[in-house]
Amino acid sequence: MGIYEELGVPRVINAMGTYTIYGGSKMSRQTIQDMGDAASSFIDLDLLQKKAGEAIARLTKNEAAYICNGAAAGIYLGLLAAVALHRGKKIRYLTRQDFRCSEVIVFRSHRSPYDIVLEQLGVPVVELAYSNHTLISPEEDIEAVISDRTAAIYFLESGWVAPGAPSLKLTASVAKKHRIPVILDAAAMLPPADNLWNFTKAGASLAVFSGGKDLCGPQASGLIVGQKGLIGLLLESAFPKHGYGRFLKVGKEEIVGLYSALCQYLSADLGSRIQDAESQVASACQLLNGHPCYLAARSYPNEAGQPIPRVLVTVCHVQMDEHKILKYLSALTPPVIAAAAGKQSFYLNPMTLTKAEMEWVCHQLLQFPFPQQ
Ligand SMILES: *Cc1c(COP(=O)(O)O)cnc(C)c1O
Repeated sequence: MGIYEELGVPRVINAMGTYTIYGGSKMSRQTIQDMGDAASSFIDLDLLQKKAGEAIARLTKNEAAYICNGAAAGIYLGLLAAVALHRGKKIRYLTRQDFRCSEVIVFRSHRSPYDIVLEQLGVPVVELAYSNHTLISPEEDIEAVISDRTAAIYFLESGWVAPGAPSLKLTASVAKKHRIPVILDAAAMLPPADNLWNFTKAGASLAVFSGGKDLCGPQASGLIVGQKGLIGLLLESAFPKHGYGRFLKVGKEEIVGLYSALCQYLSADLGSRIQDAESQVASACQLLNGHPCYLAARSYPNEAGQPIPRVLVTVCHVQMDEHKILKYLSALTPPVIAAAAGKQSFYLNPMTLTKAEMEWVCHQLLQFPFPQQ
């Protein structure tokens, strides 16, 4: 009996993708072994954070890197460092007043369920533009909300961002002119691995990635890459130091696990991975399209904007909809988790499935007891 069985938590087949609530991603044997090795010794945690950061910075062509306990935490820490820079103080000398009299600019089209962390320091959020609207003169519009209180601009890179939002390049160039850091939430923007340096090259002062999504690091890990000045402030004052970042604990296991996973990620062959995903999608389409009640098609890119195809399955039956099918899948043993797509449809995402799992899921779908039409 495994540990999940002992606890009564069924293992699920994840056809949804790198979703935190279903475990994010799975770690490789190598990463698990490296974390086990890390767990079995005492070390100087400060030194480990510094050395792992230096190694990751070299590997990702960035000035500096900092390992934290998730991308959401990374955004919080990025803003913390930006406020310190803005107020000309070390993080540990910041007062509540320093946060209250700083501001962070956020495009309305970039609002997401994760950005609440921006408000947790007490820094007022200044919203800009509309949720789905092309700016008439983006540069002027951004400058109109910049003031001497502006500590940072938050920027979201994601498949969900409305098409009218200004580009990172333009935003970064305006920010640079006013010497304001851009904190980029790129939590789910892997693959491709080049994004680990492309966003900072395009002008983000800090780019934040989740360690528990496609990087396949520890689920409770995150990575901040970017400017030495900002990351230096974190190294000096954030966890394991006491103070504002102390509650965002990242252990020796996570630091080593993220480093190990990142090394493997950089040497992995994305082309062959995409080919595997394409072949899963093609065979799923073929299987499901043989059934009169399913219409299956390749959909690209996926919801996070990742360059991996998925299967969009439409249920063609008057008495059935996608929710009934998803309910059936989740009641199987093992349960299958897939994402609804609206309009009678749902997705099957090969990103978190093996070939055998995708086939098994398709065969289960073919066995769904559709009533006679
Ligand atoms: C997943 C995600 C996060 C949070 O990442 P964690 O590592 O789970 O904290 C933040 N922003 C976006 C856009 C995400 O997709």
